[in-house]
Amino acid sequence: MAAEIEANLDHVREEIREACKRARRDPKEVTLIAVSKTKPIEDLRRAYAAGARDFGENKVQELTGKIEQMPTDIRWHMIGHLQRNKVKYIAGKVALIHSVDSYRLAEEINIHAKKNNCIIPILIEVNYAGENSKFGIAPEETEELVREISELENVRIKGLMTIAPFVENPEENREIFRGMKQLSVDIGRENIDNVEMDVLSMGMTNDYIVAVEEGSTMVRVGTGIFGARDYSRMK
Ligand SMILES: *Cc1c(COP(=O)(O)O)cnc(C)c1O
Repeated sequence: MAAEIEANLDHVREEIREACKRARRDPKEVTLIAVSKTKPIEDLRRAYAAGARDFGENKVQELTGKIEQMPTDIRWHMIGHLQRNKVKYIAGKVALIHSVDSYRLAEEINIHAKKNNCIIPILIEVNYAGENSKFGIAPEETEELVREISELENVRIKGLMTIAPFVENPEENREIFRGMKQLSVDIGRENIDNVEMDVLSMGMTNDYIVAVEEGSTMVRVGTGIFGARDYSRMK
């Protein structure tokens, strides 16, 4: 099982290169995030040994625990819903928070960034398909939220993130990825102070190939690298 991690990583990297070729994109524009949630530290070490330097986690406690056990040159990505009272535990420790969908959360991040004397890069999470089960701001409200958050001195908006619906055929999400790309271009054109729209975090195991074809710059792949997750083993 674990021996497959290297091969899986190679496979995903190859698929990303192929998708970039089809879309006439430079593969260097796409960062592969190894989503290691629920996985034991040995699995993360295997992925690290195979060259992975960007890891994604969705729970604060698991994230901070793993940060302590892994090499310091890893870029950690907080990709899960973040409660305001937990921001303090990750401020200064993560490379990017992907899941900011409210001004109040950004405000809290700003406070702890100031305390840590740092600037925290964030993405705005967009619920593009309007699914009730998902976090994220509606696409039509995104620009306004970006403008509000851009006033906060110690957070820096780097782009947008979305979690597309779970679908049988990834082609069903192509329009969503295309719409996200357009939204990021439209907001980028506004040239809002303190705002960059260089990062587009979209695509998971099931649909990252289509996401890359449509302009994703960060794909978040868990199952495709580490195998299926076993939640029954979690405490
Ligand atoms: C778990 C998770 C992923 C990875 O999902 P896979 O389908 O296993 O690739 C990506 N993004 C987010 C936000 C996640 O929570």
